[in-house]
Parts: sequence; C-alpha cells; structure tokens
Amino acid sequence: MPFAATVLTLYPDMFPGPLGQSLSGRALEKDIWNLETVQIRDFASDKHRSVDDTPAGGGAGMVLRPDILAKAIDHASPASDQRPRLLMSPRGRPLDQAYVRQLSEGPGAVIVCGRFEGVDERVIEARGLVEVSIGDYVLSGGELGAMVLLDAVVRLLPGVMGNRESGESESFEMGLLEHPQYTRPQEFEGRTIPEILTSGDHGKIAAWRKARAEEITQARRPDLYDAWRDGDEKS
Ligand code: SAH
Repeated sequence: MPFAATVLTLYPDMFPGPLGQSLSGRALEKDIWNLETVQIRDFASDKHRSVDDTPAGGGAGMVLRPDILAKAIDHASPASDQRPRLLMSPRGRPLDQAYVRQLSEGPGAVIVCGRFEGVDERVIEARGLVEVSIGDYVLSGGELGAMVLLDAVVRLLPGVMGNRESGESESFEMGLLEHPQYTRPQEFEGRTIPEILTSGDHGKIAAWRKARAEEITQARRPDLYDAWRDGDEKS
C-alpha cells in the first residue's frame, strides 16, 4: 500500500508544489505515496462559504471554526482510518527525524493546515489532532509545514532513495550531525580533499567521519551532543 497523505487546506492549489519535483515527485509518479487535498471551504454551509470567525474573548485576527473543520476531517478521515491526524501548529511537538521515521513506517497521515490565528481548540480535542511544529517561528499557514513534513517522510519510504542505506548515516539518524562531504575535483581553490577519504581504508574513513561528526555536533549543537553522549553511556 502506498503511503497515503491527505492534506486539509484552504489553498489546495499549493499542492503538490515542490513535492511534485525531484525525489518526492518521482515517488509520487511511482505510486510509492499519494497525495489528496481537501478544500476546507467546501464544508462551509453559509452562502458566503466562510470558514472563520472572530476570536472569543476578543483580539486580532480570525479563528477557523470547529464545526466546519470537523466536517472536513470526518469526510477525509472516517473513524476507521488508521492514519494519524496531525495539525500543523507552532505549539506542536517539534518535528524531528525520529518522528519523521515513525510516520514513514505507518500507513500515511491526515494533515490539517491552519490559517489566520489558528483553529478552535475544541476541534483539536474532539478529533484527537496531534499538533506538530516545524520550528520556533510563526508561518502564515500550515501548508509549507505540511510540505516540509511530507518531504522528510517521503524520502524515507522504501524505494525512494534507491540503494542508499535509507539515510541511516545522515544528520540526526545517529543522534549526531553529519560529517563533511567532498567530491571531485581533488583540488578546489587550493583546498584538497582530506587524504584519508581517498586512502581506500574503510575502517579509517568510518572512524574519521565519526570523529568529525562528533566535533561538529559538539560545536554547533551542544544539546544534541549531550543527548547523544548520554545515550552512548547508557548503551
Ligand atoms: N496565532 C498562532 C499562529 C497562527 S499561524 C500562534 O500564535 O500560535 C497560522 C497557521 O500557520 C497555524 O494555525 C499553523 O497551522 C501554521 N503554522 C504557523 N507556524 C507554524 C510552525 N512553526 N509549524 C507548523 N505550523 C505552523
């Protein structure tokens, strides 16, 4: 079964967008995953087809109505649907590679994209939406977040990256940032490729890469480094 993604949005024309290109685009063509968009506005009932209203308690902006969003969700994802239901949200659990991998091993995802000031809290509770954030900044809508999430998930699906070791040595997979990469030419503006990488000694190359990965992680992301070292000590 292909990984089934359903995106609920007020801007379905944004999709597949960048997901239709390169790795994820080819995977879409090969039916490794599929993408359905649902126009939330189709579930509005008044003649203006409005989907939002002013925030209770006052304040700026508009809030997506729970009744309309619930109808859209129930249409896209009936109670029997095994897929997780996500809401892109700056308040959500930060998206990381472990969660990306977990999603990639499941049947798919239903992703709600917020707009305006966000969505009515009651529909989050009533439909069990898992809030997911792509970082500590505020976007104008959930669509780019959904694309980021899907791009990260799709590249891990079997058959998408070909013979690569499913990205196992990449940044975050081992708890460390990746070692530096080099390719030809052997000399670039006076800088040469570290000799060890052209030595053919696979043991030494692996050790060199691990040492560089540790160094870079410690310097750039002490939070990741400490977590990795603690994990290493326990295992
Ligand atoms: N008032 C809200 C922000 C709303 S931004 C707040 O302060 O929390 C509008 C929509 O963009 C959100 O409903 C969400 O779907 C999306 N969005 C904004 N920032 C995001 C982020 N960092 N990660 C994921 N989605 C985000």
